[in-house]
Order: sequence, then C-alpha cells, then structure tokens
Amino acid sequence: MSSLSDFKCDVCVIGKGLLGSAAARHLSEMGVSVLLLGPDEPKVRSDHSGVFGSHYDSGRITRIIDTDLYCAQIAEASISRYAELEKFSGIDFFEPVGHLAVSNLDDYISKIVGTARHLGVDAKSLAASELASRFSYFSFPSGVSGVHEHSTGGHINPRNLIKAQIEMLMKAENEVINETGSAIERHDGFFQVVTQNGKAIKANKVLLASGVFSERLVDSREKLDLEICESTVVLAELGKEDAERLRGMPSVIFRQEAEYEKGVYLLPPIRYTDGKTYIKIGHSESRPMSDPDANLVKWFQGNGDPVIADWLKSQLFSLLPGISFTDIKTESCAVSRSPTGRQFIDTIEGSGIHVLLAGNGYSAKSSDELGRIAAHKVISGEVPEEYSDIDFKVKYKRT
Ligand SMILES: Cc1cc2nc3c(=O)[nH]c(=O)nc-3n(C[C@H](O)[C@H](O)[C@H](O)COP(=O)(O)OP(=O)(O)OC[C@H]3O[C@@H](n4cnc5c(N)ncnc54)[C@H](O)[C@@H]3O)c2cc1C
Repeated sequence: MSSLSDFKCDVCVIGKGLLGSAAARHLSEMGVSVLLLGPDEPKVRSDHSGVFGSHYDSGRITRIIDTDLYCAQIAEASISRYAELEKFSGIDFFEPVGHLAVSNLDDYISKIVGTARHLGVDAKSLAASELASRFSYFSFPSGVSGVHEHSTGGHINPRNLIKAQIEMLMKAENEVINETGSAIERHDGFFQVVTQNGKAIKANKVLLASGVFSERLVDSREKLDLEICESTVVLAELGKEDAERLRGMPSVIFRQEAEYEKGVYLLPPIRYTDGKTYIKIGHSESRPMSDPDANLVKWFQGNGDPVIADWLKSQLFSLLPGISFTDIKTESCAVSRSPTGRQFIDTIEGSGIHVLLAGNGYSAKSSDELGRIAAHKVISGEVPEEYSDIDFKVKYKRT
C-alpha cells in the first residue's frame, strides 16, 4: 500500500470512459495538469465483480440528425472535431458510412427534417420507394419514410475514441492510472482520491465521470436523480459474402410504435475484437433497472434480457430478410438517464465535486463536446457561453 498523496494534479478525472477521457483531454488543452483514473475493460465480464463501463463495444451510432436540437448541436460540434482528433492521435475511430433515420411516425420524421435544415446537415429525405431502391437489402414495413445523413453520419468505435483521447492526454504528459477509485475525501483546500489499491491522489479539483457506477463515490446523503436503465443487444455474425453484400450499409434508427421502447437501431457490419464481423441490433430506449445497487454488476455479468433479445432477433430477420447469420449472441449494457434529458455538468451541493454524468443513452457520439463543456465548467465555473448552466444542473432525489 502506498503512502498519502503519491500523485498530485490540478484536476483528477474519475472514469476512463467516453465522457471522462474527453473531459480530461480538454482540461489538458486548457493548460491544467490532469490525472485520469479508471480501470481497463475486464477480460471476462462474467467473472468480473468490480465496476463496468458502457463503452465495451466496437460500434456506436454517430449522427447529427435528431428530433432534439440540443442533441443535434452537441453531436455536430463533436463530429466536426473527429478528423482532427484522429489525425493528431494517430488512432482512427470514425466510419462515415452515413446514417439512416426511418419511421412511420410523421411527427418524428418532420422534427428530424426540421433540425437537419436548421443546422444545414448534409442529409436527404427519402420516400418509401426511394428507400427501397437505394437500400434494397432492407425490408421496411409499408408507410415508412426516412432521412439519410451522408458525410457526418455513420459509426464510431468507442474503444478507439477513448484510446485517441488518452493518447492526446499522454502526449501532453498527463498521468493515467488504471485503477478504480474507492473514495473521494475532502480536505482543507484540496481533495484526495483513494484508489482500490491504496494509492492516493491529491487534486485541487475532482471531476466525477464514472457513468452508471458514479453513485458509489457520492456521499449517500446526496442521492442524484439518475435512473439506471438496462439495455440488451444482439450481435449477429455474418459470413464473408453477406458482409460484402452489406458493404456501405449506413447505421440505422428505426423509430416505431413498438412493443419494446420506441423501436430499434442497427449497426452495419463491423469487425469486432474476436476477428468476426457482426451486425448489431438494439432497442432505442431502455427500461429502468430495479434496485441497481443490488443488480447492476449482475446485469453486466450476464447476457441481457432473453425476451427482448428474441424480439430484437425477429426485428433483425424481418428488416434484413435476405441475409443469413452464422451465429447470434446477446450482451448486456446499461445507461443512466436524468429527468431533464440533459447531462449533469455541475458541482454536487456541499461537496464541491464536479460531475459529468447522465449519458442518457446518446452520449458516445457527442462525448467530445460534452467533455469540452465540462472542462470549461471545471476551469471557469461556467459552461461555455453558447450553453446555459441551468440546463446542466444536477437534480437530486429528495425524500
Ligand atoms: C447498448 C448501448 C448502446 C449505445 N449506443 C449508442 C450509440 O449508438 N450512440 C451514442 O452516441 N451513444 C450510445 N450509447 C450511450 C453511450 O455508450 C453512453 O452515453 C456513454 O458510454 C456514456 O459515457 P460515460 O463516460 O458517462 O460512461 P462510460 O462510457 O460507461 O464510462 C464510465 C467509466 O467509468 C469507470 N468507472 C466506474 N466506476 C469507477 C470508479 N469508482 N473509479 C474509476 N473509474 C470508474 C468505468 O470503468 C468506465 O470506464 C449506448 C449505450 C449502450 C449501453
């Protein structure tokens, strides 16, 4: 075990995930010394009893088009910096294969068209017949129409995006410690973060960005109003020929009045770390988990909800009827949701700990801008002027 304050920094960022790594890089670019703390991905999930991340995957949809202008704006700002981040880090993470939003709900499509026009997105509306001729491998039900986003849509590799942020952080001579934080102590004028292996980090400020496990490091008297929700995904393996047939397939969100939360999303063929190529399908919104304190780790150790997995498989087979899948597996993940639909980028009352929380299921693609907003807040006490502090205020569960 190490002695007190083995490490010193201006800001200790807790959570080496999408939001924490982005915030750490932006903090470093703003000229402060940063220490990024967080464990690596576990090798075998079912055996792991520590914390998990929601980024253990090779594909996340990226797009500007959205029904919500704020979501579209933070995505646009992030996507506009992808190329620079790839270039300077030397790590590629963005596949600009395009993104397709499809629905039979007119209101949904017209809101998307509205934000796309407002922001001047490189996107085109497609009627049902155009969808069928442009993407002949899909079989959508009758009555749907779509919006196809071109150069700014597609998918990112979340693991590589985190690697790219960390590479930039290391180039600027900041420190990364691959351990789990177990406590944040407040001392006179500074914080001390203690790791599970007993290391101590002295920091002027702390930014907590540990995703769905953040509550563990917050004083239990301050119950953050975060809802932890369960996600199940299906990974369907493709043979070479079918992967080739689907070359250039965009990422897809198919919004519908569905049995399971607002329809499905699809990732095109992606080569995963096991060397196999999969299509991924998931449900667009997730259900609240009962008793996350007791169930969150168990959920991450498992393979998701079998009933939802069966529904996802049936959706996949009907959307891509001509494709054969050589193997199918299911996985679990979790997201945290705020009642405002915005992130919490604020300090916790009384403790002075900064937070960057509530990914709300859509923050992978926009993590770079959310990291920039949080870094600004940590340094200056305010979010950048194009945003408003009030939108990012932490909400608490009051009993
Ligand atoms: C199935 C699924 C599909 C999704 N699809 C999309 C998509 O297509 N597009 C999109 O934009 N978003 C998507 N999201 C959402 C996106 O992945 C999340 O919004 C994002 O991962 C949130 O980032 P985060 O940094 O808050 O959390 P995470 O990425 O989970 O990172 C948190 C990190 O904190 C670490 N940590 C936890 N506790 C501690 C501790 N005590 N000490 C130190 N470190 C700790 C964890 O190990 C983890 O690395 C999806 C999410 C899921 C679950």
